[in-house]
Amino acid sequence: MRVIGTAGHVDHGKSTLVEALTGTHPDRLKEEREREMTIDLGFAWLTLPGNEEIGIIDVPGHRDFIENMLSGVGGIDAALFVIAADEGVMPQTREHLSILNLLQVQGGVVALTKVDMVEDHEWLDLVEEEIGQALRGSILEDAPIIRVSGRNGTGIPELLHALDLCLAERPKRVDYGRPRLPVDRVFSIAGFGTIVTGTLGDGCLKVADEIEILPQKIRGRVRGLQTHKKKEEIAIPGSRTAVNISGVTVDQLSRGNVVVHPKDYRITGRFDARLSILTEASSALKHNAEVKLYIGSAEVLARLRVLGQEEIKPGDDGWVQFEVKQPVVTVRGDRYIIRRPSPGETLGGGVVLDPHPKGRHKRFAGQTVERLQALERGTPEDVFLQTLVGPGIAPLKDISARSNLGREPLQETIAALADGGHLLFLEPVNTENISPDMDVLVTNQAYWDSTSSTILVAISEYHQTYPLRRGMPREELKSRLKVSQRVFNALLGRLTSSGAILESGPLVSSADHEIRYNPQQQKAIDALMGRFSESPYAPPTVKECLAIVDDEVYQSLLDSGDLNQVASDVVFRGVDYEHLKSEVKTILQRQGTLTAAQFRDHFNTSRRYALAFLEHLDSRGITVRDGDVRRLRR
Ligand code: GDP
Repeated sequence: MRVIGTAGHVDHGKSTLVEALTGTHPDRLKEEREREMTIDLGFAWLTLPGNEEIGIIDVPGHRDFIENMLSGVGGIDAALFVIAADEGVMPQTREHLSILNLLQVQGGVVALTKVDMVEDHEWLDLVEEEIGQALRGSILEDAPIIRVSGRNGTGIPELLHALDLCLAERPKRVDYGRPRLPVDRVFSIAGFGTIVTGTLGDGCLKVADEIEILPQKIRGRVRGLQTHKKKEEIAIPGSRTAVNISGVTVDQLSRGNVVVHPKDYRITGRFDARLSILTEASSALKHNAEVKLYIGSAEVLARLRVLGQEEIKPGDDGWVQFEVKQPVVTVRGDRYIIRRPSPGETLGGGVVLDPHPKGRHKRFAGQTVERLQALERGTPEDVFLQTLVGPGIAPLKDISARSNLGREPLQETIAALADGGHLLFLEPVNTENISPDMDVLVTNQAYWDSTSSTILVAISEYHQTYPLRRGMPREELKSRLKVSQRVFNALLGRLTSSGAILESGPLVSSADHEIRYNPQQQKAIDALMGRFSESPYAPPTVKECLAIVDDEVYQSLLDSGDLNQVASDVVFRGVDYEHLKSEVKTILQRQGTLTAAQFRDHFNTSRRYALAFLEHLDSRGITVRDGDVRRLRR
């Protein structure tokens, strides 16, 4: 389903024409009827001769009401550009045309209306010539001009036919599976409750869907749906949709809110964009200027960082970063308009390139502009990779959503990037069967190269600082990298499976890490081990060990298993420890119980060692104490 928006100077006959086309008078406010002037948006619908049902948004033309116009014009597929034959091109004719251009509305039809008021055909020819000049270089350059009268119906069938042709040439609305409804009206009806209307984009809404209203993050449920005053179970992209919401009151909502499925969209307080300043603008756009931003149906104050240049002159383009006063919902490719708050003036507009940039950009950093250029001009592959550059590493489904490429192009793009080795999967995935909404972490080669080398360097520095330690504690490495547990696990997983690092328990080490003692340390170790072999079951105490070797060496002997400390002051050689343990088990299997005294006598040691070793076995769950005796734990 699609929507046409009217545009054109005040009193040129837009509302009358919509009524002639649809049978519905779009002006909805009593005040409007009385003043015969459209203040707020009006809505109507009709079925074109080719059988497509379309919605029509009638926007106000009066200069004071241009801001209402902006909240409606964002979601339209084509323009019905109205120019009265008696007056020809007027100031708001030009301003509306500029806005349609900035929004890159994809074409439309020009209605030269009130022809019943003009007898003189030469005059009409002259007006058409003037219109042709005004439209030159605009999105309506090739639009047909149809002579009509809203009053006596002249030219209405031709106009309908032209609208039909115009839409037939345009792409249909795409279902990205992520509905969003920028709210342009909020009201309540007795017996129904809260109702919002808007032009639905990017997906379908269904009755009973759970919804979220952004930026407030209020949850509610779809109680009912209407498209063009008909009850529907499902509303499709491009339809003018009224949503009856349960669980939310009217005073919680306002124009500019966005209705979405929970978690499909994130609000943003900052985004990167391309901006064109109108040639007619009265001054250049300065860095840090405050503007009114119109995006979706929202109007918010924002500050603009001008990137890569001092200012943007009238007629020029540039890169900007918006800091918005209230969060908005936007995706790459959305169009917007900016106006000067006072005196009110349309300054320009453009396209959103990155709705969630990493942070505030340095104004004159070359990479920033390069990145935005790639996002603007790039192939789907460039766009996807550039979207990934922001977070560096992220779930595939998030990058898919943010790149806003559409489901089919996404599928192909992801497959091509994965095939070419540009897209790396950091968690196990069946590469035969990748879908864009998978919750699997991905990254690009550059990010992987730099992050993996950061990790390898950190580990190797650790080895240099502590050459006798087997590895770096995982937690220490994680806090250095400042990443989430999930990302950390994925990064280490990939490095481990590539064989670059080894993981053992809580430690990670370089694959080629070996513990090497210097000659002095080796001599001390030999001396120590000599002491152990003299009396393996009554060995030197920990304190005595530390008098022979230093702390680091002692720790490394524990790490390597050469020594095994069983109590605060009792340590055995690894081999002796294993022997003691298996002997105790054998004795217990044979005779059922063992006392400390029996242990002492059997191993020809002292009571102190016997108690320490048996308590250690208790603590390991190998034995249990029962009065004076130990038994095997079942
Ligand atoms: P809008 O402000 O562009 O929506 O203009 P309206 O539709 O409200 O029309 C403004 C005035 O022009 C009204 O008084 C209409 O009755 C009149 N009007 C509109 N269309 C025609 C037309 O085709 N012929 C004549 N004679 N008058 C028209």
